[in-house]
Amino acid sequence: MSSGNNKVTVATTWLDGCSGCHMSFLDMDERLVDLAAQIDIVYSPFVDAKTLPEQVDLGILEGSVSSDEDLHKAREFRARCKVLLSLGDCAVNGNVPAMRNPFKLDAVIERAYRENVDLNPQIPTEGVPRLLATVRPVHGVVDVDIFVPGCPPQADAIHYVLTELIAGRTPDPSQVTRFGA
Ligand code: SF4
Repeated sequence: MSSGNNKVTVATTWLDGCSGCHMSFLDMDERLVDLAAQIDIVYSPFVDAKTLPEQVDLGILEGSVSSDEDLHKAREFRARCKVLLSLGDCAVNGNVPAMRNPFKLDAVIERAYRENVDLNPQIPTEGVPRLLATVRPVHGVVDVDIFVPGCPPQADAIHYVLTELIAGRTPDPSQVTRFGA
């Protein structure tokens, strides 16, 4: 699936997640060495590059869409990545972040920043993205091509999906994944 020069370009980021899905990616351990010969990570918490290129072969999103910043990132990834992959249950179905959905956003903020805080309770307003009223999975805001559930997905499953994509095949993650841990 590469776009001309031999390596498949890959971008990853986290939205509203715990970074555990990215940790699971790193759990591929020594297989990362082989992968490094085939993929070029052009934007990610894993690397220094902090500008998403205009065109990327594969985009990987961890986490749900909970803020306006998450929404912007998801749309940007969709616009620039040929193939977009939802990594982990938070991205696939909202998972833990979506547990706030039955409650009104004001009540959630009040609970988190005032009621449960003993020392200097205050609601942050500067330097934090605006929360959306409802948390949504990534495919709730943009089209997603591949879903890899799990909390987090096992490193073996991530490896399977990546190697299939690199080989130009369409992976079937349902064979190697399940929801939850
Ligand atoms: S799916 Fe699980 S491991 Fe991944 S970001 Fe969500 S809570 Fe963390």
